[in-house]
Amino acid sequence: MEKVVIMGTGCAGLTAALYTARAGLSPLVLTGTLPGGLLTTTSIVENFPGFPEGIDGCELMSRMQKQAERFGARVRFGTVEAVHLSERPFRLTVDDEQVETRTIIIASGASHRHLGLESESLLERKGVTYCATCDGALPMFRNQPLVVVGGGDSACEEAIFLSRFGSVIHLVHRRDTLRASKIMAGRTLSNPKIKPVWDSVTTEILDVKQDKVIGVRVKNLKTGKESVIDCAGVFVAIGHVPNTELFRGALEMDENGYIVPKHGMESNLPGIFVAGDCSDHVYRQAVTAAGMGCAAAIDAERYLARLNQ
Ligand code: NAP
Repeated sequence: MEKVVIMGTGCAGLTAALYTARAGLSPLVLTGTLPGGLLTTTSIVENFPGFPEGIDGCELMSRMQKQAERFGARVRFGTVEAVHLSERPFRLTVDDEQVETRTIIIASGASHRHLGLESESLLERKGVTYCATCDGALPMFRNQPLVVVGGGDSACEEAIFLSRFGSVIHLVHRRDTLRASKIMAGRTLSNPKIKPVWDSVTTEILDVKQDKVIGVRVKNLKTGKESVIDCAGVFVAIGHVPNTELFRGALEMDENGYIVPKHGMESNLPGIFVAGDCSDHVYRQAVTAAGMGCAAAIDAERYLARLNQ
């Protein structure tokens, strides 16, 4: 029987692991399908305190894992397939095995949002991608025109990163101002290789018949005019959806599926705690996720202490 199972090894999960490990609870920490979380798909993290020169996202996550393991966290590669929360102890199905636990900290993060176009899913990995740091340096994108869709920090980061490889980066955004932070927007708009395409939505990715990306069809929302931008790759960076599907119906969520904490980081079900992007649609920063992981761990520890009284 576990005292604490932590779902997720992003900033929230690994910080919760560090704190519960230091509290002597020997947490079982399950990686899910993306060990290290979304930060492993980014390049340099410049806004995590303590690293004045910035730090590589993978390096930061690997250090967090080592730090948690040093105090007894048990990080295991595994995905939770089902949860049984109606009885105590809680039961999880992890890669066909049953795990019993007195508390769960859900730090399952969020996944990339898709445009929802049929051509997008048919051309995924054939030129459509959701991660410039993972795929941007591929030969198929080198010295080619590329498209980034979105107007937030992620889209700006992708566009700046891709400007090292592509011949020109078209940044297609549905409004005429970027949502991104001032510093990222400034860097993006002053990059000579990045060309914003304002007030425009992507209506189709071309060309499904050729089984590869050769362009995107965009529609200007102000004029209604459609046009085609030639490109070899489309990088979709339009935000995220929380990974909370397993808990639908069991835990209180908002209309977009973010789990709503009720007391500190405890969900509406005592013994189940949340942290990071699966419950935060406002801040969504590495450092706030880490802070929430810390808070969830402290809440879980106090809950267990109360049970033992
Ligand atoms: P975001 O801030 O939610 O931005 C999503 C962007 O995609 C918005 O510009 C939005 O347009 C657009 N969009 C959403 N749905 C769309 C659709 N169906 N079709 C076309 N466009 C669509 O998401 P994010 O950029 O992934 O950032 C998430 C969080 O991570 C933010 O808090 C951000 O600050 C943080 N982050 C920080 C850094 C950094 O500091 N270096 C890097 C990456 C991410 P509208 O603007 O019109 O809504």
